[in-house]
Amino acid sequence: MADTDPYQPENIFARILRGELPAHKVFEDEVALAFLDVMPQSHGHTLVIPKLSVRGMIDMPADAWGPYMVRVQKVAAAVKKGMEAEGLTVRQYEGAAGGQTVFHLHFHIIPRWVGEPLRRHGDSMEKEDVLKANAAKIRAAF
Ligand code: 5GP
Repeated sequence: MADTDPYQPENIFARILRGELPAHKVFEDEVALAFLDVMPQSHGHTLVIPKLSVRGMIDMPADAWGPYMVRVQKVAAAVKKGMEAEGLTVRQYEGAAGGQTVFHLHFHIIPRWVGEPLRRHGDSMEKEDVLKANAAKIRAAF
């Protein structure tokens, strides 16, 4: 996809937002939705997406950043607490050349433990029962 292409409403995250595809949701309000990454880089890897239809950070209206980042922070705190993580890696990939593969803005919240390396980005599918258990831990931490 070219960086000049418009937002595509059939992208996977837009379909999750519309309820057309399932997801292990951990948080939702009028501004944002958070759910587990199906190919996590660590246990509890969570994605936070705005409800606005924007491809990436450059397309996000300036006045929408504050409310969205407050949700990113809130979800990050719950992920860290729920997963009993020692730290977090927070990432955003912008454009295909930047490593973005789903073109609806999202931040990755990746739990970290000292000495545990990250799995590769988008490498292998996690088992459903593991995702379900991790989502329950995070939901309980809000
Ligand atoms: P990006 O590469 O765009 O920053 O991140 C997209 C992320 O979405 C990847 O980490 C990938 O594992 C994840 N992903 C891809 N398809 C799906 C899906 O159908 N459901 C969920 N929950 N995550 C997905």
